[in-house]
Order: sequence, then C-alpha cells, then structure tokens
Amino acid sequence: MSAKRDYYEVVGVSKNASINEIKSQYRKLALKFHPDRNKSPEAGEHFKEISEAYAVLSDPKKRSLYDQHGHAGVDGRYSTEDIFRGAGANFDDVFSDLFGRQGRSSGGFDSIFQNLFGGGGGFGGFGNQRGRDMLYETSLTMEDVLHGKRMEIDLQKNVDCPDCNGSGCSPGTSKTSCAECKGHGQVRVSRNMGGMSFVTVQPCRKCGGEGSIIEKPCRKCKQGKVKGTKHLSFDLPTGIDDGDYVLSGEGESIPNGANGDLIIRVRIQTHPEFKRDGRDIFYDAHITMIDASLGKSFEVPTLDGSHKINVDSGSQPNSIIKLKGKGLPGKGFHGRGDQYVRLVVNIPKKLNKQQKNLLKEFDDSTN
Ligand SMILES: [Zn+2]
Ligand SMILES: [Zn+2]
Repeated sequence: MSAKRDYYEVVGVSKNASINEIKSQYRKLALKFHPDRNKSPEAGEHFKEISEAYAVLSDPKKRSLYDQHGHAGVDGRYSTEDIFRGAGANFDDVFSDLFGRQGRSSGGFDSIFQNLFGGGGGFGGFGNQRGRDMLYETSLTMEDVLHGKRMEIDLQKNVDCPDCNGSGCSPGTSKTSCAECKGHGQVRVSRNMGGMSFVTVQPCRKCGGEGSIIEKPCRKCKQGKVKGTKHLSFDLPTGIDDGDYVLSGEGESIPNGANGDLIIRVRIQTHPEFKRDGRDIFYDAHITMIDASLGKSFEVPTLDGSHKINVDSGSQPNSIIKLKGKGLPGKGFHGRGDQYVRLVVNIPKKLNKQQKNLLKEFDDSTN
C-alpha cells in the first residue's frame, strides 16, 4: 500500500476542526462511499481510509498522538482493530443517524466492520462485545528494575467450564447450526430510506452472530464459562518505570466475545538509600570533616553490593563521585546508567573542651 495520507486531508477538515465538524464531514463521506451504496471498485478501500481517519480524529487521545507524532504516533501504539474498536461509539453516532436508530449493539457499526474486515467476529462477534479490562497493581523495588521480575499471579476471572470444556453444551451433545442464518452468523437486511434501499449485513439475532445454537446447555456453566482462577506467569522487563503495561487478551473473558485486556499497573517503590532519575541513581555518603580533609577509602552501597571509593584529601562538601555503569538499565538504551555519590560533610554539632582547643590550635597553625 502506498504511503498513508494525512488524516485531516482524508476527512477534508482543517487541523483545528471541532469534533462536530469532523463528525458531520465523515457522515457526508460515509454516505457517499459506504460499500453498500457505492459499487465502484475503489469505494471499499476509500471507505476504509476515511473510516480509519475518523476513528483516530474522533478520539481525543489518539487525535492528540496523531497531532504530535503523525501516523507513527498512532500506529506504533494501536493495532487497526484497536483504532476502530476504540471509536465504536463515535461510529454508532453517525450510523444510527444514517441507517436509523438501532442502538449500539447492532446495525450500522457492526456491519461496517464486517464490510471492512470480512466479518468473522474479529471485533468480538455480536454487538462488539468484549470482556472487561482487568487491573493488577504491583510495586517493584529498584533491584527488580535492575534485574527484571518474573511475575506469578492468580486472577479471579471467567474460565472455560471443566464439565463441557468451554463448549456450553451438556456433556455428550454439541452445538447445532443456526437455521435462521444457515450457520453464517450474519443476515442481510435491506432498509428503505428516502426512496433508496440500503442493504446491510447484520449479526444474526437468533444465534447472536455465532452461527450455531446450543440445544442442551451445560448445567454447570453459563455458555461455557465459570468463575475460576487463572494462573499467569510473565516477565516484567529490566529498566521498567512507573506506568501501565498491557497484556492483551488476558482480561475478563465472556461467552461469544473477545477477551478484555489485563493492565499491569507498576509502581516503583522508593529505595531506602537511593534516589532514581531515569537510568541514574543518587546516593549521599556522609563523611566527617576530618575524612574530607585527610582523604579516606570506604565502601558505599550500590545495587550490585558494596563498592569501594576513594575520597581525595581536601574533598569539598557536595562534591560528586561518579560510579560508571552502576545505575539502571533503561528502555531504548544500551548498558546501565551511572551512580552518583554525593559527599555530605558532617560538621560536629557538639565539641568538648579538648576538641575545641585542638581546633583552635589547628586554626592558629594555619595563620
Ligand atoms: Zn459447562
Ligand atoms: Zn443465526
């Protein structure tokens, strides 16, 4: 396919167009190029192009990504399916107007996608259903950030019924082909609007778009699903930061629909000794004014265990010693960052008489 055109150009609006302008412009184009109305060979591709542009521009988050980074900003983060699925409600807005009010779960929206992507439940089958996204929160230590972390978690969610292996049919029986749609899961519906006839493909209502019907349901479950526990193991990579990481398809599962996503919300714990800034870590080493003056070797902690440093004689307060490669790995970088050791020079707060005299003597000797 040739290079993607600018989304604003495709929809025919200016960069600062309001959502209403975008919607109304898309509505006009959709009427013109919807494959059910426009039989020219290019109409399908063109309709797909304007629909994708609309899907992005009608979603504030994706639009802002597109404004900042162009196609790469959106494509790098979302699959085509995500782009369309995320804009479901915005399509319903337009198509319920165009093709009559049918509500969110049938009609225009789904038929669009069956037209564009050849059906087959790619968008979760009937009514665009999808299990809910699930959230799992975890906190990692800086050591976990350094080494990565193997996660073993148990999720309470719907799982395949053990009695019927998820088929939903009473053991020993199986699904039968739906007579209404002859097993296709879709029916063609023609509608008359303003003297023009629109033919849309809709999911079959009798079988919910599945193409098959459960005659004798399993007694244990609801359409093949029961509440249960799913064990998941996966690795959180090294160099990770606070944020959400998505395991797609590992969220709640529902009968006849796509699984939701599992969102792993990661928080990095504060470290008792180190502060972090990206790949670099910072450590305050407290030394006496005598050690700063005379110099000293001592051990400081690092994420890899203790490390010997040499403080030169005459070191000044707040001077920094850099330990190269003792920081953290980071996404998109080779190697580790550095550890910076700051020398905090402790001035004694209480001196006894003898100490005072010694310091006075020292002071006199420097004059
Ligand atoms: Zn069952
Ligand atoms: Zn059917």
